[in-house]
Amino acid sequence: MISRQKIALLGSTGSIGTQTLDIVAEYPDRFGVEVLVAGNNVDLLIKQALKHKPQWAIIANESQYNALKGALAGTSINVACGRQAICEAMALDSVDVVVTAAVGYSGLEPTISAIKAGKRIALANKETLVVAGELITSMLQHSASTIIPVDSEHSAIYQCLVGEEPQSIRKLIITASGGPFRTKSLDFIKTATVEDALNHPNWSMGSKITIDSATMLNKAFEIIEARWLFGIEASQIEAVVHPQSIIHSMVEFVDGSVKAQLGLPDMHLPIRYALGEANRLTTDATPLRLADYANLTFETPDTQRFPCLNLAYHALERGGNTACVINAANEIAVAAFLNRRIAFLDIYDTIVTTLDKIAFIENPTFEDFVNTNTEARLRAEEIIKNRI
Ligand code: NDP
Repeated sequence: MISRQKIALLGSTGSIGTQTLDIVAEYPDRFGVEVLVAGNNVDLLIKQALKHKPQWAIIANESQYNALKGALAGTSINVACGRQAICEAMALDSVDVVVTAAVGYSGLEPTISAIKAGKRIALANKETLVVAGELITSMLQHSASTIIPVDSEHSAIYQCLVGEEPQSIRKLIITASGGPFRTKSLDFIKTATVEDALNHPNWSMGSKITIDSATMLNKAFEIIEARWLFGIEASQIEAVVHPQSIIHSMVEFVDGSVKAQLGLPDMHLPIRYALGEANRLTTDATPLRLADYANLTFETPDTQRFPCLNLAYHALERGGNTACVINAANEIAVAAFLNRRIAFLDIYDTIVTTLDKIAFIENPTFEDFVNTNTEARLRAEEIIKNRI
C-alpha cells in the first residue's frame, strides 16, 4: 500500500499547475494537496483552495493577500503571501513532493528551498536549471532531494535511460516541434504579431514558454536543462525538429541503437510519470494510435531563422552567469513583445546586447545569480526603451 503523497504545487494557476491538479483529481487515493502557490491570479487560487483544501494557500503578489485571506476566512486553510512564505512552504515537513510549475526566474529560490529540505521534486520550471544549473547540481549532491523532470523532452530522456549505464550514452536527441514559424520566411518572422507567435501548432502552454518556443530559445533552454539533469556534455546534445511532437526525445547509445519515447502531445503524461516517481500510473486517457500518424518527420533546425538555439551552446561553453543573463534578458524581452513594445526579432537582439553589458562571473554564488538577474533585467529594459 503506497501512502498518499502530499504535494506542494508552486504555480498552481498556470498551465502545468492546473494539469497537475487534474492528475491529483485522477488519483485521489494517491495524491493530496498540501500547499498551493499562485503568482497573481487570486480568484483561481481561491477556487482551487476551496476544492482541494490544502493546509496552505499562498499568493506571491502581496497586494492580493487581503482578497485571499477574506475569501478563505472560516476555513481551516492557512494563508500567506510573498517570497519567504513560499520558500518556507516548500520545506514543510508535511510535504512529500514539490511540483515546480512557476514560470521563469521566480522558480529558483523555492526550488533551492525544496532541495535544502531534501524534498522530492517534479521539476517543470526549467529556468531553475538554466539560470543556476551547476549550483543546483552541486546542491543536489549534498542533499537527499531528487528531481524527476516534467518537461516532456526530459521525461522522455529519463524514461529512455532507465536500465542504461551512463557510459553507454553517445548522444541525447531533443525533439522540437519547430513552433509556429517553422515554415515561415524570415520576412514573415520579422513582422510577426503576438497572435502569430502564440499560435503554437501542437502544445497549449503558458504565454512565456509559447513565445520561447516560437524563438526556439525554449529548445536552447532544454539543451541546458538536459546538460545539468543528465550530466551530459553540450557537444553530446542536439536538437532535431519533429513537427508532429509524437516522439518526445531520444537517446543514441554507443552501439548505434536509438531509444525513443512516444506519446500524444499532452503534458498530463509526463506529469503523471513524475508524480508516480517514475512508475506507470494506469489511466483512461486517450492512447496514441500510431496509424493516425502515418508520417513522423525530422528536420535539421535552421539557426539562421532561429538564432536563439545557438545561445545554448554559447551559454554552456562560457558557463558562469551567462545563462542567467540570457534568461533575465529574455524574460524582459518576451514581456515587452507580448505588450507589443518590440518586434519579434528584437527578443534575440535584446538578449545578445544585454550579454555584452553584464560583467562575466566565472564561479557565481547564489547571491551573484540574484545580482546578475536584477542587473540584466535593468539593462534589458534600458535597451528596449532606447529601441522604441
Ligand atoms: P504559466 O504562465 O501558464 O503559469 C505560470 C505559473 O507561475 C502561474 O501559476 C503563475 O501564477 C505562477 N507564478 C508567476 N509568478 C510567480 C511567483 N513569483 N511565484 C510563484 N508563482 C508564480 O506557465 P506554464 O505552466 O506554461 O509553465 C510553467 C513552467 O513549466 C515554466 O518554467 C515552463 O517553461 C515549464 N514548462 C511548461 C510546459 C507547458 O506545457 N506549459 C511544458 C514544459 C515545461 P499566476 O497565473 O497566478 O500569476
